[in-house]
Amino acid sequence: MPTLFELDSFLAENKIECFQAKELVHGLKSGNTVPQKELWKNILPTLKLAELARKDLHTRVKITSGYRNEHYNAKPNIGGSKNSFHIYFRALDCKPLDCPLVDFLDYILEYLNNPIDCNSWGIKEYNTFLHIDDRKNRYRNLYRV
Ligand SMILES: [Zn+2]
Repeated sequence: MPTLFELDSFLAENKIECFQAKELVHGLKSGNTVPQKELWKNILPTLKLAELARKDLHTRVKITSGYRNEHYNAKPNIGGSKNSFHIYFRALDCKPLDCPLVDFLDYILEYLNNPIDCNSWGIKEYNTFLHIDDRKNRYRNLYRV
């Protein structure tokens, strides 16, 4: 099983500066684990997007959910869907700490409107955080009409 230290090194090698391995794995609480190495690259696009928003909006970003192994994902208090993108280390739930959630959401939606990324990514808005994943088919579930 890879370690948090190894995952942190991987993040640093890939120029992820603002997020740490520990916050991507729920602090290894309740039987969650560091994902297997083959999955690590999956999270980079989503992490980079969160970092970009962080820098441009001048806000800290708290990750409320990152990788969840199947066991952890299935826990009643987590309530992850069976094929959750979190199991594949492709998704982050996160929220800005220094600006309104709606500003963070607007930034991300606008960024994803560029021609390279249109028709992809999954964005789901919750009351207190956003779910972001880099699925290849476009998915939006927002409160606004
Ligand atoms: Zn999520």
